[in-house]
Amino acid sequence: MKAKSPDSIFTPARCQHRTAAGRQCRSLASDPSSGFCPHHAAYLDDDHTDFLAALTQKACRFQNAQGINHSLGALYTLAAQGRISPRRASVLAYISSLLLRSLTAIDNDLYPKAGRPGFSPNGEPIVQDDVDAIDDAGQSEDPAKSQKPN
Ligand SMILES: [Zn+2]
Repeated sequence: MKAKSPDSIFTPARCQHRTAAGRQCRSLASDPSSGFCPHHAAYLDDDHTDFLAALTQKACRFQNAQGINHSLGALYTLAAQGRISPRRASVLAYISSLLLRSLTAIDNDLYPKAGRPGFSPNGEPIVQDDVDAIDDAGQSEDPAKSQKPN
C-alpha cells in the first residue's frame, strides 16, 4: 500500500502551480526561475492578449488611481488563479506602483506646461513679440490656437 503524502507540505522542487483546491502540481519544476513544470510554464506564456485585455479593460489608460486599482485587482485575480507567473506579476505590480506615484508627481509638477506650444522648455509663456518674430519667419503656428485651455 502506497503512503499518501500530505498536500499541505510545500515542496519548492515541485511545480509551483496549485489547483483551485490548493493542491500542488506533482511534476518537478523544470525552470528554477519560473518554478513551473513544462506543462504549466507553457500554459503561463500562452495567452498574452488575454492578460492585456484583462489588465487594461478598466484601467482608464492608467491615468487615474481608480484605473490602476482596477488593473491591480485583475492582476491579483490572475496571480491567485495561477494563470500568470509570479515574475511577470511582480514586474506589472511594480510598473503599476510607478504609474500611481507618477500621478502624484504630475499633480505637484511645478512646470506643468513646460515644452507645450506657447511655452518655453522652462515652462514660461513665450512673449507675444517673440512669437510674432517667429511668425514673420513663417515657421510657427499661433500659440493661442494650439494652447490647451485649463
Ligand atoms: Zn505543473
